[in-house]
Amino acid sequence: MFSKKNLVFLGPPGAGKGTFAKMLVKDLPVPHISTGDIFRHEIKNETPLGLKAKECVESGQLVPDELVTDMVVSRLGQDDCDNGFILDGFPRTLNQADLLKVALVESGKVLDAIVSFECGEEALLERLTARIMCRKCGTSYNKLFAAPKVEGQCDDCGPEGEIYQRKDDSLETATDRLKVYNEQTAPLVDFYKDSGFFIALACERGMDEIYVDLKDALK
Ligand SMILES: [Zn+2]
Repeated sequence: MFSKKNLVFLGPPGAGKGTFAKMLVKDLPVPHISTGDIFRHEIKNETPLGLKAKECVESGQLVPDELVTDMVVSRLGQDDCDNGFILDGFPRTLNQADLLKVALVESGKVLDAIVSFECGEEALLERLTARIMCRKCGTSYNKLFAAPKVEGQCDDCGPEGEIYQRKDDSLETATDRLKVYNEQTAPLVDFYKDSGFFIALACERGMDEIYVDLKDALK
């Protein structure tokens, strides 16, 4: 059904790439790989790369791009990636993209598609700040899809359940995240645009519609 199976998902926070990766693995049974998962796995299993990464994390340093790339390429070399993979959140910088390019050539792997999830800043901010919670019971709501029935009040706790927003979901945090993305990761769109395997997916519309286009593009 799919001819493109070695995939990189690229896009700003809030565009939905993680959600679409989770949907896609039901139709295209390949591992969904995020660098966070790789880090946790390598560190937990105390692999040589994991130990190096742990040293960086514990001393408060950024894990160098070379090390992140080595970990990703080592993960792609595992048996379950033989039939494809979805790389989610890597590469994150131009330097990582360059390193990945070289490492893939060395390991004999190719990328079949870079899927770029595209969404305007206003819609991203709206999504990234949509989560609100009840201070009393912790139930989370979504301003866009699942708002409390009475504004500012938890459905279960009533007037005692004050609705608030966590700092992680605040406009300030969302703006910062987009700024970092625009500075560090957005240049990858130009890096891959002329690669011949670049797929742009407009993400300001219904999920089902986007997903149909995603599957079509990977045929
Ligand atoms: Zn509540």
